Amino acid sequence: LNPNKERFSPQDMDIERALRPLSFDDFAGQEQVLENLQVFVKAANLRNEALDHTLFHGPPGLGKTTLANILANELGVGIKITSGPVLDKPGDLAGLLTNLEERDILFIDEIHRLSPVVEEYLYSAMEDFKIDIMIESGPNARTVQINLNPFTLVGATTRSGLLTSPMRARFGIQSRLQYYNKELLSTIIERSASILNVPISDQAAIEIAGRSRGTPRIANALLRRVRDFAQIKGNGSIDIEIAQFALKALNVDAHGLDEMDNKILTTIIDKFKGGPVGLTTLATAVSESGETIEEVYEPFLIQEGFIVRTPRGREVTELAYKHLGRMKSGNQGE
Ligand code: ADP
Repeated sequence: LNPNKERFSPQDMDIERALRPLSFDDFAGQEQVLENLQVFVKAANLRNEALDHTLFHGPPGLGKTTLANILANELGVGIKITSGPVLDKPGDLAGLLTNLEERDILFIDEIHRLSPVVEEYLYSAMEDFKIDIMIESGPNARTVQINLNPFTLVGATTRSGLLTSPMRARFGIQSRLQYYNKELLSTIIERSASILNVPISDQAAIEIAGRSRGTPRIANALLRRVRDFAQIKGNGSIDIEIAQFALKALNVDAHGLDEMDNKILTTIIDKFKGGPVGLTTLATAVSESGETIEEVYEPFLIQEGFIVRTPRGREVTELAYKHLGRMKSGNQGE
C-alpha cells in the first residue's frame, strides 16, 4: 500500500531513522510549509498551548513522519506513533489518548485508513479533549466521560482524497508536501553521506539526486546502495564514476521512475496509442486504484513532463516516448 516503504529492508529502515532530521534547521526544502509551521510552533510555545491538529499529505517518503517528529522536538513534547490500520477499535485509541501528557503529539500515519468507528471516536477527543470510556461489564456496564490533556493530533496521508470531510475539517493546520528538486535532494544526500561517514563528490550527489524520483527516502536508500559499491568495488568514497557504475548495476531508471511509473507510461502508449485515456480505464489496465494513480504516481509523472492531463484524459508526452526508446504512433517497429 505504500510502495516506496515496501521497497526497502529493515536495515534500510534503521538507517533511515538515523538519517532523519531532528529540527527545522536540519530539514531541507518545503520552505512554505516550514515557514508556517515555525510560526505556529512559536505561537503555541509562547502561549504554552497545544499546537493545533496538523495534517500532512503528499506522496510517500517526502518527510511527513519526519515533520511530526520535528514538531515534537520543537514543541519540547513527547510523541506517540501509530497508524490507521493498527487502530482496530476505539479501545486501542483510548489507551493511547489517556496516556498523552499535556501538549504531547499523537501521530497517526495513514490516517485515511482509520475504521469509521475509530474515526468517530477521535472526533470528540480532537474537538473537546474528552472521550467516553466503558467501565465495568455486564449489568453494571456504563460509560463515563473523561477529560484528556490537551494534545495535538498529527495525521499523515498519501491519499487525501480518501479522508472524510468531517475528519479533514478538524485539522486547523493542513500542509501538502511537494516533490524535491535535484538540488535539494543532493543537499540531503550530502548531509546523509556525512552522517554515514562516506566522502561523496558534488557531481556524484547530483547524479544520485536525479534518479531519486523527487523523494528523500529513495535518495537515502540509493546512497546506501551506492556506498556498498564504493566500498567493495572502489576506494570507499563516492565519485561520479562509481555512482554511475552502481546506478547502472542497480538498474535504476535514468529519471528515477519506478516500475509502476514505467508501467503506466508503457500502458498508455501500447494500449491506448499514447492517450488520451480516462483515469478509471487506465487504472484497470495497470491493476492499480485510480486514487493511488492520481495521488501517488501521476503527480511526479506530470511534474517531470511525462504525462499531461487534458479534458479528455491522460496523455503521454514526447519525453515519455523518448524515455522508453519508442517511436510515436504507428511507427513502432524497429
Ligand atoms: P513519509 O512519512 O512522508 O513517508 P518520512 O518522513 O518517513 O516520509 O521520510 C523518509 C526519509 O527521508 C526520512 O528518514 C528522512 O531521513 C528523509 N527525509 C525526508 N524529508 C527530508 C528532508 N526534507 N530533509 C532531509 N531528509 C529528509
